[in-house]
Amino acid sequence: MKLTHTLLLFGILLSYTAFGQTHNAYYQTLVNQVSADQLESKLTSFANFGEKQLGSPEASNAFNWLVDLYESWGYTSIEQHEVNAWGESGYNLIVTKTGTVYPDTYIIIDGHYDTINGPGANDNGSGTAIILEMARILKDIPTEYSIKFIHFTAEEWGLIGSYQYVEDIVLPQNLDIRLVFNIDQVGGIAGDINDTITCEQDEEFPSSNNSQSSLFTNQLMTCVELYSDLETNLGEAYGSDYVPFQEEGFVVTGLYEYNESPYPHTSEDTLENVDFGFILQVAKATMGAICHFAVVQEDMSVNDANFDQVQIFPNPVDDELIVQSNSAKISKIHLTDLTGKILWSSSKVESEMKINTSHLPNGVYLLNLMKGKLSSSKKIIVQHK
Ligand SMILES: [Zn+2]
Repeated sequence: MKLTHTLLLFGILLSYTAFGQTHNAYYQTLVNQVSADQLESKLTSFANFGEKQLGSPEASNAFNWLVDLYESWGYTSIEQHEVNAWGESGYNLIVTKTGTVYPDTYIIIDGHYDTINGPGANDNGSGTAIILEMARILKDIPTEYSIKFIHFTAEEWGLIGSYQYVEDIVLPQNLDIRLVFNIDQVGGIAGDINDTITCEQDEEFPSSNNSQSSLFTNQLMTCVELYSDLETNLGEAYGSDYVPFQEEGFVVTGLYEYNESPYPHTSEDTLENVDFGFILQVAKATMGAICHFAVVQEDMSVNDANFDQVQIFPNPVDDELIVQSNSAKISKIHLTDLTGKILWSSSKVESEMKINTSHLPNGVYLLNLMKGKLSSSKKIIVQHK
């Protein structure tokens, strides 16, 4: 019975999706690092540059400030992409963090930094401050997928910066993009109750990418619920920098405020008129989502206090895994495959051990550490060069 089989398979897929995405304690430690002070200071600097239209000194100042921040955090892949329109020019900023397992596949998190008719505290200082906070926290956190943090210009003139980026770079370089995650106008309204965020899915032509967008947007909604205090609303992706990507068949999702502010594109789009508490919650939700989309790799030294002296590296590993236990007094170590079959074991644990992984097929393994009655396991990825 073909119909029955189809329904059964659909049911299995649905439950896998629902149960596959659970609260992750390590992601939560990163969400907890999202700082209200950092967000407020970035947003304040952003607003104080004034109106940042393409070609203006204010836009140039804001661009240089963004570059300086990324450099101060130690990012090295910082590119400027020239944008030209109506006799004016400026730059998109693209900062790349390389993934450990899929270095050539990108999660793009983007938002525009140009503003029109005002300082743009909400539109889009809010998204800009959140992207910066993600980049600050994730600098030294390994992710399986590469991340591109992109600050577009000339969005307010008709998505010109993102259209030119897709045309000049994405298509000629045939970039492998897993997801474009756009953040635009998530500042809320000061004095209002801002307790809901709209998660945006692609409902436009072409339709080939719509179901994937729906899947990622559902995951985004789950992340909002898991890692912030906000409620979710499902909306349609339109009128922002994901559009040039979605038109070329890429998978997009986005965040936009549900309680829509009347101030954007006016001189009233100021720090006084946004809700900093709401921006903090959107930033927490975004951090949970980026951990999920880029697949942050857990660091056992952070998530398990009993084994906090143990360093395990590199991960992913090619032919030799190093375990440094220092003062942790590990009594036994073994490496298993995902079925639990022991592939390597040692009960004579020295302060530094080297485990030969050269013969293991590429894949996921578990390193189990025991200390008296305590045990902990860490996911190890074998990836031969
Ligand atoms: Zn905007």
